[in-house]
Amino acid sequence: MSKLYCYICRGDVAEGKPVAEDPVLSATLWLKKSLGISRSAGKTLVVCPGCAPIQKAKRNKFKRKLLELGLVAGIVLIAHSILISFFLGLIFAVFILSLSLIYYAPGMESEEITASKPA
Ligand SMILES: [Zn+2]
Repeated sequence: MSKLYCYICRGDVAEGKPVAEDPVLSATLWLKKSLGISRSAGKTLVVCPGCAPIQKAKRNKFKRKLLELGLVAGIVLIAHSILISFFLGLIFAVFILSLSLIYYAPGMESEEITASKPA
């Protein structure tokens, strides 16, 4: 059994729920491993029971921000496409969306299992 690492309190824990893998998380972990600054290498990323409410709050905030920024990005893209150029609008839209990464928090495997299942 591999060791468990809580990503909120950043330490080894005895128990916790596994974090759901997503492209942002994978990229972050890959980058940290490449730079040699990963403390969770070879361990299972989890959220310990004590940190569960914090994780939930962070995740909800991230989802809300993503929705807000997605809306703004959509408006910017449409406005730019009409007034200036689609390409410039796309650059702005991607930039606005990338701001949501400030609030990024991975989801839990248990809650996302139905959503991430391939059809
Ligand atoms: Zn924790």
